[in-house]
Amino acid sequence: MRLHDAHVHLDFFNEAHNVALDAGAMNLHLFANTVTPEGFVRMRELIGDMPNVSLGLGAHPWWAREIDLDLFDGLASQTSWIGEVGLDFSPKRKDHGLQQEIFTHIAELCADSTNKVLSIHSVRSAGTVLDILEHTGCANSCRCIFHWFSGSTDDLWRAIRMRAKEQLKLIPSDRMLLETDLPPSERSCASAADIVSSLERTLTQLEAIRNESVLERVTCNWDGFLADV
Ligand SMILES: [Zn+2]
Repeated sequence: MRLHDAHVHLDFFNEAHNVALDAGAMNLHLFANTVTPEGFVRMRELIGDMPNVSLGLGAHPWWAREIDLDLFDGLASQTSWIGEVGLDFSPKRKDHGLQQEIFTHIAELCADSTNKVLSIHSVRSAGTVLDILEHTGCANSCRCIFHWFSGSTDDLWRAIRMRAKEQLKLIPSDRMLLETDLPPSERSCASAADIVSSLERTLTQLEAIRNESVLERVTCNWDGFLADV
């Protein structure tokens, strides 16, 4: 079975290099998000060029104060994959203004390019995120993956059961991708097999909610991303 994980934090796995290799052997493609430009550089050195890993250049809103935008700008021309970026306006996250400055800057930068794929964190900030993507032109020139939820898979399905079931039915099938956001914390002992079982659980639950087969469709959607970058 060919699978993809459109949002995973490979650098939070203890054995990142082995997880990437195992994922390749399992026919699993990873969009490996980072949270800072330095993290991107470290991961690039660690895993090198693997055909089943697309390494994202990140500027995560939780790390807003640490983001070196000059470094980000210099690296952005070297990759099509940007993530994790975005906004988090939940009350415990500060620096909302700084987050917006950084995300607007990145959206402007990416809008000037034609082949960027963005994985976007948007917690309690969806309206502002969409405004920025529209104003900058990024919504037109880039392919934006809305990574809506940053909790564990179990939390996600709890939330879905409570309130998001109807929304999941509404998403057009040609707009869906699979993601895990694993691992749940840094320095994790999780493996590539854990990613695969999480994806399989998600597929089963998604197919039950939508009452249609999903794997072939999402694989085709993912292939569409890969074809253009
Ligand atoms: Zn994430």
